[in-house]
Amino acid sequence: MTPIYLDNQATTPLAPEAFDAMLPWLRDNFGNPHSSHVMGRPAAAAVEVAREQVAALLPKNGRVIFTGSATEAINLAMGAARTQQGRDQIAIIDTEHAAVRDTALWYRTQGFETTLLPVDADGLIVLEELEAYLGQKTALVGAMLVNNEIGTIQPVEQITEMAHRAGALMLCDAVQGFGRIDMPQQADLIALSGHKICGPKGIGALWLRDDIEVPPLIHGGGQEQGIRSGTLSPALCAGLGVAAKLCAERRETDRVHIASLADKARSLFGAWTVNGSLDQRYPGNLNIRRDGLDVARLMSDVRGVAFSAGSACASGSGRPSHVLAALGLQPAQIKSSIRLGFGRYTSIEEVEQAAHLINQAAENQLS
Ligand code: PLP
Repeated sequence: MTPIYLDNQATTPLAPEAFDAMLPWLRDNFGNPHSSHVMGRPAAAAVEVAREQVAALLPKNGRVIFTGSATEAINLAMGAARTQQGRDQIAIIDTEHAAVRDTALWYRTQGFETTLLPVDADGLIVLEELEAYLGQKTALVGAMLVNNEIGTIQPVEQITEMAHRAGALMLCDAVQGFGRIDMPQQADLIALSGHKICGPKGIGALWLRDDIEVPPLIHGGGQEQGIRSGTLSPALCAGLGVAAKLCAERRETDRVHIASLADKARSLFGAWTVNGSLDQRYPGNLNIRRDGLDVARLMSDVRGVAFSAGSACASGSGRPSHVLAALGLQPAQIKSSIRLGFGRYTSIEEVEQAAHLINQAAENQLS
């Protein structure tokens, strides 16, 4: 039996339109997009159409560089810190995804001082702490738009203004918000991923404001304006492009649908406590806990629903969730938290059925 899929922060199903857009480039049109002959030119054109489709959802004063993932885009983006003469400090929010957090911490081995900025009990950045931190040595500030574990939306425009006032660059990990909520218009670098927007896995993108330079991570043929060498996959680009276009076309329909799923879920999980801000949150993410619950047991009891204990990344690595810990939750509360993620293809009936199964297993465990 196919499980009910409620893990849309980990990944999303591929939109049929994106699948269709990819097929010709996987089958008959196998030309290298970097070849100038008759087989290469249509492939190059497909890549450029996709670039436009992605760029349409981003600020106008920048360029889109395709990468193999958002993780790669973030690693590339953080190199911008090296271009900031006389500045050797990086600050990120304590609740960033490992792609930002571990990269920023790695910069400590490169002579940078990395600071983790605290959040309040709702998971929102403490702006006074940021203000107190920023100074002439700050090279780069990293702030995510929507948190992948708890769905909280950070005030990225405000953070960017503050970073810019101090002369620092601003990197926004927009992976969980791209295509669904407005992109920050003033950020210098924005990272996104294909597989979180019903596009394919194995492709991400970095948006850079026109005047921003990043040192390449990968050297070679000089593709992607010399920033990211390596032959592009026209199929992956086309899939991401169409997925982005669909997000733009369906934005209001998707928003209304996901809001109704979230309302339904909130009412069905009334006995649970929501982790993270109730109002500054993307509704497709519901992170909830029930004190005393053993979530590992719950997950093995409820095999008919694909959902996550905390973050898929954190649970995959066996690390306790640093996000829930940053909110001030105790280890036992972290272990009793689950994440439910709704998407475009989730139905109300699936939410009802999943809530029934999860609640029943929780009651059995707690009784
Ligand atoms: N940033 C956030 C907020 C994410 O949720 C993820 C994926 O879980 C990533 C970055 C990494 O994206 P990718 O899988 O494309 O490397």
